[in-house]
Amino acid sequence: MAKVQDIYGEMVFDEHTMQERLPSATYKQLMRTIKDGEPLNLEVANVVAHAMKEWAIEMGATHYTHWFQPLSGITSEKHDSFIDPIDDGHAIMSFSGKELIQGEPDASSFPSGGLRATFEARGYTAWDPTSFAFIKDEVLCIPTAFCSYNGEALDKKTPLLRSMRAVDEQANRVLALFGEPHQRVVTTVGAEQEYFLVSEKDYERRLDLVLTGRTLFGYSPCKGQELEDHYFGAIRPTVNNFMKELDEELWKLGIPAKTKHNEVAPCQHELAPLFANANRAIDQNLLTMEEMRLLASHYGLVCLEHEKPFEHINGSGKHNNWSMSANGKNLLEPGENPMSNLRFLVFLAGVIQAVDDYQELLRMSAASAGNDHRLGANEAPPAIVSMFLGDELGRVVDALIEGRDYTSHERTEMDLGVAELPNFLQDNTDRNRTSPFAFTGNKFEFRMPGSEQNLSDANMILNTAMAKSLKEFADQLEGVPEERFRDEALDYVKRTLRDHQRIIFNGDGYSDEWPEEAERRGLANNKTTADALPCLVDQKSLDLFAEFNVLDEAEVRSRYEVKLEKYNKTMNIEIRTMKRLVRRDYLPAINDFAAEIARHITEVRAVMPDADLVNQESKLKALLDGAAEINRHLGKLHELHYASLEIEDQQERANMNAHEIVPVMDALRDAVDNMEIIVERKHWPVPTYNEILFYA
Ligand code: ADP
Ligand code: MG
Repeated sequence: MAKVQDIYGEMVFDEHTMQERLPSATYKQLMRTIKDGEPLNLEVANVVAHAMKEWAIEMGATHYTHWFQPLSGITSEKHDSFIDPIDDGHAIMSFSGKELIQGEPDASSFPSGGLRATFEARGYTAWDPTSFAFIKDEVLCIPTAFCSYNGEALDKKTPLLRSMRAVDEQANRVLALFGEPHQRVVTTVGAEQEYFLVSEKDYERRLDLVLTGRTLFGYSPCKGQELEDHYFGAIRPTVNNFMKELDEELWKLGIPAKTKHNEVAPCQHELAPLFANANRAIDQNLLTMEEMRLLASHYGLVCLEHEKPFEHINGSGKHNNWSMSANGKNLLEPGENPMSNLRFLVFLAGVIQAVDDYQELLRMSAASAGNDHRLGANEAPPAIVSMFLGDELGRVVDALIEGRDYTSHERTEMDLGVAELPNFLQDNTDRNRTSPFAFTGNKFEFRMPGSEQNLSDANMILNTAMAKSLKEFADQLEGVPEERFRDEALDYVKRTLRDHQRIIFNGDGYSDEWPEEAERRGLANNKTTADALPCLVDQKSLDLFAEFNVLDEAEVRSRYEVKLEKYNKTMNIEIRTMKRLVRRDYLPAINDFAAEIARHITEVRAVMPDADLVNQESKLKALLDGAAEINRHLGKLHELHYASLEIEDQQERANMNAHEIVPVMDALRDAVDNMEIIVERKHWPVPTYNEILFYA
């Protein structure tokens, strides 16, 4: 492999390349746009476009694309070549400022949730200069926002950028009260991506994996994750080769892939990059997911990004590490003595207030058909949002609430009792893996989002809610005389912590007592996507988004529609796949095997009339009973499925899917799975968990 320093970022039109290739005045102007949010004019864009094109062609690119994130959450691209034929029959390569700034894809086939009627199919993409352009497979990809003819956001990026602007504004008001000069405040995100790798040949034989991304059937494997031998285990060679190529490709794209390891479940892995500005981090995460899918095929593997590809073992999440940074300085850094770090306390109280006040929205942001299988199943946080602060910060907050003084503990020196091993200082933050929103040293880790999700929604909500907390603080404290500022600010912090104490929970989030305790505290527990989505269009949410110009009412409603539809469509696909597989694969296999046994019984009887055939007979009975049970559940599923399709109202249909249909799907699955372990191997039509999860 080439030296990492040489390849890192080579496919990115980043600051370094810009400085090299742009006239100095243009470079400075562009930097003011990127760093300070100054508007950009066409003249500058023309110069940038030219330099970008020259660079891209040198790097082998022939096409360019406006790369965007429609409401489906994945990325979209339409490739246009640079060619521009001239009169003499030759062609030149051209790319103008206008083409850089604005594109016009036919938007009629992207979900819009009613924002755009098909007769107004025009949609526009607009260059986002804050996320660098890059080359992927000979195509210059320009990150863009996507909006309708009337300027309504039709994508995930626009509201995220709006929410970042809101945080920037409000955080600066707060920082000004602390006497700090205006600075660029951004939220930062580090997205830990979990995924599974399975062999292509098994995958191809599992229609459920191919069509739905998860196995709809499958008895638990004889060996699961109980030996805890996979987590951090030695990485098998094929997977290791995949990971190496993945790292290399990501580094070329300027994505700071940092950590890779085997995860808890067999075949499960994780990749964590170094954090970046939220907007860029999310673009990079989407690109990472795409590279994972693509590169797996080089090794005869398939990358599964679904939240729950397999029952009985852990599913995959995407931890959203989140913090705020002012000109590179982390605003959630507690320092040695958080109790006296007033600025930190103000921001901390702000996060606590934001998470408590908008807990339902945050939970909503992680809602999807796939993630419904994860949240609340003993592997991921429950569907209840709560916060974990750790011992040290927990004590600080308790002291503030109770109006006591508190001095931070000296950090304990750890002595391992072996002279040769170095002593080290114990960290003051410990870990609680069961908490959905945990403080981890100088950032929060939101653990609800699922592996397949676009993190824009979660961060857009987090940012907007945080902007609101900061605004309230600034509104109250601006105008307070300087000599009284610290006292009043501290009072404000204490009041806020007291008001939002209920959201802090340091216990075991997986325990049976927690949902009861949470209910006593008045915390929301929206267990399924159908239950979680409606809060998006509550007046409280509409007000929040409107107050910070992040989403207007029509934009919120369209997102709600799109999410509901996506849920219902996913359910419809899963139900159809389930029915098809049961009818065409599983029942025939069970019946074939039953017939074989019946023939066997008759044959033996013919030569030995009083033979003891209890084994065969009981097996035959079990098969016939099992098939009958499958048939019963299948009939019920079919009936409910058709009834659900009659329901026009998407929320009602979602309710039916979540509350009535899912239990029948579960029952049907169980009935089939129970047959898997008695039907002879050669009759079973698909690779089983034992085989898929433990490939060589
Ligand atoms: P763990 O698995 O123990 O939670 P990892 O080291 O795998 O931790 O991931 C932590 C993630 O948090 C990394 O992506 C890291 O870059 C990110 N991170 C660290 N500091 C910040 C910060 N200030 N803002 C956002 N993310 C951060
Ligand atoms: Mg983590």
